[in-house]
Amino acid sequence: MDADDSRAPKGSLRKFLEHLSGAGKAIGVLTSGGDAQGMNAAVRAVVRMGIYVGAKVYFIYEGYQGMVDGGANIAEADWESVSSILQVGGTIIGSARCQAFRTREGRLKAACNLLQRGITNLCVIGGDGSLTGANLFRKEWSGLLEELARNGQIDKEAVQKYAYLNVVGMVGSIDNDFCGTDMTIGTDSALHRIIEVIDAIMTTAQSHQRTFVLEVMGRHCGYLALVSALACGADWVFLPESPPEQGWEEQMCVKLSENRARKKRLNIIIVAEGAIDTQNKPITSEKIKELVVSQLGYDTRVTILGHVQRGGTPSAFDRILASRMGVEAVIALLEATPDTPACVVSLNGNHAVRLPLMECVQMTQDVQKAMDERRFQDAVRLRGRSFAGNLNTYKRLAIKLPDDQIPKTNCNVAVINVGAPAAGMNAAVRSAVRVGIADGHRMLAIYDGFDGFAKGQIKEIGWTDVGGWTGQGGSILGTKRILPGKYLEEIATQMRTHSINALLIIGGFEAYKSACDMAEARGRHQELCIPLCVVPATISNNVPGTEISLGADTSLNVIVQTCDRIKQSASGTKRRVFIIETMGGYCGYLANMGGLAAGADAAYIFEEPFDIRDLQSNVEHLTEKMKTTIQRGLVLRNESCSENYTTDFIYQLYSEEGKGVFDCRKNVLGHMQQGGAPSPFDRNFGTKISARAMEWITAKLKEARGRGKKFTTDDSVCVLGISKRNVIFQPVAELKQQTDFEHRIPKEQWWLKLRPLMKILAKYKASYDVSDSGQLEHVQPWSV
Ligand code: ATP
Repeated sequence: MDADDSRAPKGSLRKFLEHLSGAGKAIGVLTSGGDAQGMNAAVRAVVRMGIYVGAKVYFIYEGYQGMVDGGANIAEADWESVSSILQVGGTIIGSARCQAFRTREGRLKAACNLLQRGITNLCVIGGDGSLTGANLFRKEWSGLLEELARNGQIDKEAVQKYAYLNVVGMVGSIDNDFCGTDMTIGTDSALHRIIEVIDAIMTTAQSHQRTFVLEVMGRHCGYLALVSALACGADWVFLPESPPEQGWEEQMCVKLSENRARKKRLNIIIVAEGAIDTQNKPITSEKIKELVVSQLGYDTRVTILGHVQRGGTPSAFDRILASRMGVEAVIALLEATPDTPACVVSLNGNHAVRLPLMECVQMTQDVQKAMDERRFQDAVRLRGRSFAGNLNTYKRLAIKLPDDQIPKTNCNVAVINVGAPAAGMNAAVRSAVRVGIADGHRMLAIYDGFDGFAKGQIKEIGWTDVGGWTGQGGSILGTKRILPGKYLEEIATQMRTHSINALLIIGGFEAYKSACDMAEARGRHQELCIPLCVVPATISNNVPGTEISLGADTSLNVIVQTCDRIKQSASGTKRRVFIIETMGGYCGYLANMGGLAAGADAAYIFEEPFDIRDLQSNVEHLTEKMKTTIQRGLVLRNESCSENYTTDFIYQLYSEEGKGVFDCRKNVLGHMQQGGAPSPFDRNFGTKISARAMEWITAKLKEARGRGKKFTTDDSVCVLGISKRNVIFQPVAELKQQTDFEHRIPKEQWWLKLRPLMKILAKYKASYDVSDSGQLEHVQPWSV
C-alpha cells in the first residue's frame, strides 16, 4: 500500500509522515544493564520503525561501553540485520556494565563517538541505572559539545547542528522493579521460566512428600516471587516489600503442618532473593530450610533459580510489549523538542504512555528508601495498585480461616464451566470456591456444563478440593458447548432443589449467550432471578464486554512457540513460506496477535476483508523479500477469515506464485491451541478475576439478605470484563447492542488498532494511525 493507494486509511500516512518524518535524523539504540528476554524485539522495532520513517538507525554494541569505545561498536543497522531475532532471548547487540560511562571523561568520549555519526537521538533499553545514566548524559550534552569544540574535536557548526540530545528509555528488566510501568520487558518471560520449574518440581515433590524452598530473582522487588506464588498457590511467600510479621517462624510451620494434615503431599515456599524481615535482616532460603527441618522434620530441598529466569525465548506478551514500545519510542524521539524531558515509554494498563524518565527513576528509588526506613506499607503502595492487589489476593486464597470464624450467609453459590476448555478455567474455579467459602457461602460445583446442570450433576465443593488447580489445563469440572435454552425447565428445577442463590458462569461466547438466554427466561422461571456473572474464558477472545479473556494468553504462547518451531524446521533448506491456520472462529485475535509476536509477513482475518489484489500484493511482497537474505516467510490465516480464500487456496496460490523463489508448506494448528498448562498470566488472571466476580456476587447477595429479594433488573446479569485497566461489570442487556451475534464477535475490537504495527515491522508500506495525543493507540489489559 502506498500513500496514494485509495485503500490506505484516510490521510493518515501523509499526516503521519508530514509530522513525524525521520529524514536526516540518526537514532542510536543500545541495551544496558542486565539482559532481559524481549530486548531483541524492542531493538527490532526501533530499527524497523526508524527505517520506516526515513531515519538512520545505529546499533550501539555492548551498552555504554560500546558508546565510549566507538569504532566498530557503533554500526548502522539495516532492515535485515534484525531479521529472525524476535524469538531470541537476551540481546544480540550485547549489554555490559560500564564504569567509564559513570565518569565525565567517559561520557565525553561517548558524545564524540555519537557526533561522528550525527546521532542525536538515543534509545536506551535497560534498568533504572541505565536510564539514570542516559538522563545525565542528556543534561550534560551541550557542555560536552562545548568541551569537544574547545578541544578541537568538533567545530562550532557541529555544536549548533547537534545542540540537543533526545533520549527515550524502555525498561528492560525481568524484576518488574521500575515504577511507572505495569510491566517491564522480560518480566512475563521470567515468570514463564519460574512456572515451568515449579510445575516440574511439583511432580517430584508430590511423589516424595517434600517441601521445596524456591528462590527467585528480585533483590529489591518481590514481583516475581509474589506473582509466582499466586500462580502456583504456594504455601508461603517472602517478599522484600512485605516482610512477615514477628513470630512468622511459628506461623509458617503451623500452616505447613495444617496443609500436610489436609493430605497435601507437597509444600512450596517461594522466596525473593532480597527477602527481609521487619528488622531488615535477610531471610535466606537456607534459613527457611533449616527452620522447616528443625521444627517439622520435613524432607526439604532448596532450589535457586538464578539465571534460568533470564534465559529462554521471550513470551508472546514480551514480544508484543517490546515491539509496541520500540515503535512508540521512535515516535517519541521524532516528536521530541529541546524542551521535552527525557521520557520512558511505559505501560499503563492498556496504554503505552510516555512518562518523564527521572520522575519514574525517583519513584523507583523511593520504594527502596521506604524499605530501608522500614516503611513497608509505603513500599507496597509505591509499587502500585496491581502489586497491592496481587498481595491481597494471595493472602485471601492462601490462608483459610477456621470454620467457626467465618460468619455464614446461608447462600448457595454455584460455579459452572461452559463452552470449549480454556487455560485458566481451573484457576478461576479455585479462586471462586475459596473466596466464596471465605465470604461465608456454601459453594456448589456443576459438572459437564448445562447438560450436567439439567441432569443434576451438582455437588458441594470445599477449600481443599480445589488445591493444586491453578496449574491444571482444561476444565476439571467438565465443560460443554450446550446452551441452557432447551433445558431451562430442568435447570430451574435443579436450582430449586439445590437452593442456588447465585451462579458464576466461566466460559466463552456460549457462557455470554447462556447468560443472555437465562436473563430473558426470568419471566417464566423465577428461580433464574438470581445474580448471574460471566467470567470470560475462551482462547478466541471474542466475548463482548472484555478486552481479554482467560485462555487467550496461553493460546497465543502455544501459537508463537509452534511458529518458532515450524520456522526452524526449514533451517538449512531453501527458501520457504509457511501458511499457518489459527483458531478463533470469526475472531482474528489469535491470528493477528500471533502474527505480531511471531513476526509474520501477513495475517488474514475476517475483520479486515481482503481480496485477490491483497493476496497478490502479499505474494509479490514476499517474493521480493525472499530475493534478499531472508529465508523464511510466515503467513497466518484465521480459520474463518474468508469462505473461499481457504488455507488450501492460499497455500496453492503462494506455491504457484512463489515457484522458483520459494516453496510452501501449510499447517493447521488445531486443538493444540487450547494449550497445555496455563500461562502464568492466565493463572493469575483467572485467580484475580474470579475473586472479583465473587466479591460482586457477595455484595449482591448482601443486598438481598433477609428480604428474599428476587433479582429482575438488568444489572444482576453481568459480564465481568477488563477495559482500559479497569475491571467492569456490564449487564448482558447492554452488551447485546455491541455484539455481532451472527459472527460471534464484539462489534468493536481494540486489537485491530495494532494491525498496522505488524505490517510496518514486516516491511509493508502500511499507514499508521496516531492518536490525538500523538501517541499510538495501544491496548494491553494486563493488570487487573
Ligand atoms: P539492572 O536492572 O539489570 O541492574 P540497570 O540499568 O539498573 O539494570 P546498572 O548496572 O545500574 O544496571 O547500570 C548499567 C550501566 O548504566 C552502568 O554500568 C553504567 O554504565 C550506567 N549507569 C548507571 N548509573 C549511572 C549513573 N548514575 N551515571 C552514569 N551512568 C550510569
